[in-house]
Amino acid sequence: MSEDFYEVLGVSRDADEDEIKRAYRRKAAEYHPDVSDEPDAEEKFKRVKKAKEVLMDEQKRAAYDRMGHDRFEQAEKRGGFDGAGGGGGDPFGGMGGMGGGAGSPFDDIFEQFFGGGGGGRRSGPRQGQDLQTSLTIDLEDAYHGLNRQMTVTRPETCPDCDGRGHPPDADAQTCPACDGRGQQTRVQQTPFGRVQQSQTCRQCGGEGTLYSETCSTCDGDGRVLREATLTVEVPAGIRDGQTLRMDGEGAPGERGGPNGDLLIEITVEPHPDFERDGDDLLYRLPISFPQAVFGDEVTFETLDGSVSMDVPEGTQSGETFRLRGKGMPRLKRRGHGDLFVKVQVVTPEQLSREQREALEAFAEAGGEEIDVKEGFFERIRNSF
Ligand code: ZN
Repeated sequence: MSEDFYEVLGVSRDADEDEIKRAYRRKAAEYHPDVSDEPDAEEKFKRVKKAKEVLMDEQKRAAYDRMGHDRFEQAEKRGGFDGAGGGGGDPFGGMGGMGGGAGSPFDDIFEQFFGGGGGGRRSGPRQGQDLQTSLTIDLEDAYHGLNRQMTVTRPETCPDCDGRGHPPDADAQTCPACDGRGQQTRVQQTPFGRVQQSQTCRQCGGEGTLYSETCSTCDGDGRVLREATLTVEVPAGIRDGQTLRMDGEGAPGERGGPNGDLLIEITVEPHPDFERDGDDLLYRLPISFPQAVFGDEVTFETLDGSVSMDVPEGTQSGETFRLRGKGMPRLKRRGHGDLFVKVQVVTPEQLSREQREALEAFAEAGGEEIDVKEGFFERIRNSF
């Protein structure tokens, strides 16, 4: 769980900014949930992102080096450490746990990321929250890929106050509680000695300034819920449970910080005719007894047009044939999986008189004696 940020990125302790950037790009590409099939890719991706965020920030990196991993994380959880100037926070808090279930493709069940207690630390740039929603598609769509329009309700920067939370002409006054510093310092006695902790000023939310009016549109929050219509590009070969990430389409950043991302969890509905196993597909093909005996060329519909297949002479019921490259496209790679065709010989439930006589002759020619039951004849007669 708590892996050193330098190890996460695979760089040395004295790596410079460029090295960290390069390492981040490499790792992010590896673990990007769009790309990676690893079940914990999302988790790893988050750690890589977090490691970059800390190591690219001069102040945070200095604090990290000084405090070590565990103490740094604890300090951050408690809400800041001296000298780090806000920022950071927990850009990944609030993720997960939203789910929203499957439902219609236009479900836009977003948790409202409004504050939870007055907006948190406000003093530095802060990345917006990642938002999560879900999209249900069918197997044909997963086969071909698609662009789907989705309407989502998400927080956006308030257009009336431009995110400031107060009208431009409101009177400003230095916050008396923190004397304009935005931070309040608290000294705590711990077993390790005196610890000085800075906290965001509650009165002004870290801004150091109080205003005579709050924006009525956003109620001072700086953000409002808005509907946005987005086009989601679902790549061919996507699997059930995979997550797409739309960069910068999440909640707006604060104080010039970047927007969060929008994460879209994909549900691929089961298909009535095709079973999926990774990139392979399984199809059950019913054939008649004579087809199984004599062999035949059969044609059937796949997810991508019709396909012909030779059923060889003497095929047994339950035999499986592989059609190479006729399965699902491989996500972000070339080629397709295979289509497995499981042949099922269908026993007729109703026979005409002619068919019955032919089958009896067939049995006799093979030296078989079949003790046909009374009830069986009844059924045949009734079916005429
Ligand atoms: Zn506003």
